Amino acid sequence: MTRLLPLALGAVLGLALHAPAAEAAARKPASLAIVHARVVTMDEQLHVHDDGTIIIDGGNIVAVGPAGLEKDYATARTIDAQGNIAMPGMVNAHNHIAMMAFRGLGEYRTDDRLRKFFFPLESRMLSRRLINVASRQAAMELAVAGVTTVVDMYYHEDEVAEAVREVGIRGVLGETVINFPVVDAPEPYGGFQYAVDFVERFKDDPLITPAFAPHAPYSVSPQMLARIQQAAERYDVPVLMHLVEPLDEWERVKARFPEAAGFGDELEYLDSTGILSPRLLAAHVLRADDKDIALLKARGVGIAHNPKANTKGHGGLSPALEMMRAGLGVGLGTDGPLSSNQMDIVSIMGYAKRVATIRHPETTTYTPPELVAMATIGGARALKMDDRIGSLEPGKAADVILVDTRSLNMQPLYDVYAAIAYQADAGDIYTTIVNGRVVARDGKVLTIDLDRQQQEWNRVTREVAEFARTLDY
Ligand SMILES: [Zn+2]
Repeated sequence: MTRLLPLALGAVLGLALHAPAAEAAARKPASLAIVHARVVTMDEQLHVHDDGTIIIDGGNIVAVGPAGLEKDYATARTIDAQGNIAMPGMVNAHNHIAMMAFRGLGEYRTDDRLRKFFFPLESRMLSRRLINVASRQAAMELAVAGVTTVVDMYYHEDEVAEAVREVGIRGVLGETVINFPVVDAPEPYGGFQYAVDFVERFKDDPLITPAFAPHAPYSVSPQMLARIQQAAERYDVPVLMHLVEPLDEWERVKARFPEAAGFGDELEYLDSTGILSPRLLAAHVLRADDKDIALLKARGVGIAHNPKANTKGHGGLSPALEMMRAGLGVGLGTDGPLSSNQMDIVSIMGYAKRVATIRHPETTTYTPPELVAMATIGGARALKMDDRIGSLEPGKAADVILVDTRSLNMQPLYDVYAAIAYQADAGDIYTTIVNGRVVARDGKVLTIDLDRQQQEWNRVTREVAEFARTLDY
């Protein structure tokens, strides 16, 4: 009753000046409203609001609905999307972003590129500084391209985390554990302790999800895989691993770890270590028969599908379509900047379709909504983060991108999913919002000192270029 009194008094006295303030007080507070957007929610029912509104408060989406919804909220800031598309930010489900420093090198031969190029570059050039500067550069490119969550496995992952957090996108970042000495671990498997420290440090970060990253089945022993799995369970964090990538992977595993020879196949062997679990995001999985797919499904393993990297390299075409149809969580990734050279997920959607059609010329493969789903909610499901990211729904994190539909390549726009999957390119994304914060707009990152980054980037790439000249290719 007392609350109504000032309003009633105001009305009686004709104090029009006070009315809007009183009305605002009745409205719910919100930090940001996106209005007049074609909202592609990617929720379970694939709701699209042709003239839609998204209400954000702090880091979360509080409401999604038709035009006019914003009238119920006292909003600090409003973005008029002018009919352009608003959709969930994309997930790049597999990457090694610090290798951005080496992109474009050693491209003239692929037969022995790893030994002749990768390893000398990594052993000579890798440092905390290079990893930090290159990761920041890569995170900028991802942010501008509408990737709001990047999955990464590398060394000095704390430097990757600092860079990703500074730019302001989300990272699921795994410290690599491998059976030989590397830049951040002089002992074989030294990455394990590094990973434990990394996980403890970033465990409660709002943007960073720290993870363990056993490199691959042929480079990590069954004992270490079991130990990693136990640690991941103790800390309740994901595990990231390359799986079934080289053509001779199973042969390599058996040659290195004789105990594997007692098992019928690679996945059966890996299952004995406990590593196949819902925590695992497996990158590639280039060969899997029905039995393998059933086992991966039963264990709840998520899949990162990297068609551009797989076809630039020599791994072959992944059965990603079969895995998705079997109900596994399948997301899209690029792999590192040396493997596919591009970082965006927009162009991977159409590419995944083309690759699937080459593998299955006799049948219809992905539909456009399935492709957009893999780029967004599919990646979230593969990471077991679909309760938090991947679609535009109340209660989820405010990771939203705006796609310009007035560009020539986006016209005509008859089917919004087909336009996103096949017509859009990364340059059409003009606003990237992560956790409620506008991180990039009109092709520019807004969160960091761009001049300083440019200077540091120039220094790093000059040093890399100098050393690369001494390598044989
Ligand atoms: Zn990789």
